[in-house]
Amino acid sequence: MSCMRFFSVRLTNALTWMCLTLGISSSAFAAAPVNLTISTGSVSGVYYPAGGAICRLLNKSQKQHQLRCSVTTSEGSIANIQKLRNNEVPLAIVQSDIEQHAFTGATEFAQSGPMPQLRALFSLYSEAFTLVVREDSHISQLSDLVSKRVDIGNPGSGERATMELLMQQLNWKQTDFSQISGLHADERAQALCDNQIDAFVYVAGHPNGAIREATNSCDAKLLPLPPEQIASILKAHPEYSAATIPGGLYRDNDTDTATIGVTATLLTTDKLDDETAYQVVKAAMENLEQLERSHPALKGLNPENMTHVGLTVPLHPGAARYYREHNIKM
Ligand code: GLU
Repeated sequence: MSCMRFFSVRLTNALTWMCLTLGISSSAFAAAPVNLTISTGSVSGVYYPAGGAICRLLNKSQKQHQLRCSVTTSEGSIANIQKLRNNEVPLAIVQSDIEQHAFTGATEFAQSGPMPQLRALFSLYSEAFTLVVREDSHISQLSDLVSKRVDIGNPGSGERATMELLMQQLNWKQTDFSQISGLHADERAQALCDNQIDAFVYVAGHPNGAIREATNSCDAKLLPLPPEQIASILKAHPEYSAATIPGGLYRDNDTDTATIGVTATLLTTDKLDDETAYQVVKAAMENLEQLERSHPALKGLNPENMTHVGLTVPLHPGAARYYREHNIKM
């Protein structure tokens, strides 16, 4: 383990000062594992178990690389980008639309500015913009949301940003709803079933715990986006694609739900050293079947897609080295 590697993973650690000023040799740290944190999402989402699975796979070979991986919960994609920007974590899972906006300094990042330092390790699975409504809410199409009690997602979440973009597209303001809230993903199903809200939004892989809770506890329904809305969003925002939430994943939601989608991506910055990036990619790529089995939303992972689908920031050089060495198309 080299001193510089330690430095780039744990910027704030006092030992980095020792490394740099005392010139301690690499062997001094050989036995001490370096902590590597992945910032994820809420426990009822998919980022958290997906990050946990990546960590478990990496930790299995800890003896070889001396990395000790763990996950933290988070407010979601926007919060994860801020943590990467502030060097609070080396790794985070982020929606591909938010990744693109952050890299270029667009929409929600117009004020904070672009992040050219963002780098990708790989993408994972599709996430769908998901509208969930109470069965008795008399909401049978998107336009019925007007004048209803709608939870647009907690600040810091990807769904909050995606919903705001959709509202802009529809010319909706927050005042068009009778009540607006910003609950965490873990709280929305209960609020819906307790009749505190009529609808909530989520951007996540399917099936997931939050939607399962809502559909199991109070017969909540998934609401499709109208085809013309999907078409107009895709035209204005190529960072989204058409998506379908398959029927049958949730109780009493047997038909397919048409919507827009993004991709969950594992991001870092150019501060992460090449060897660490390489080891994270290696752990995932060499155990893809186990990764897929860790959560039903991760089914269908394909290395050929994971190197580019949903990725708009450059691949980290350590990741690119792994893909080159293993002839995986980038
Ligand atoms: N897409 C959500 C967000 O960016 C998180 C979904 C999840 O945790 O699976 O906030």
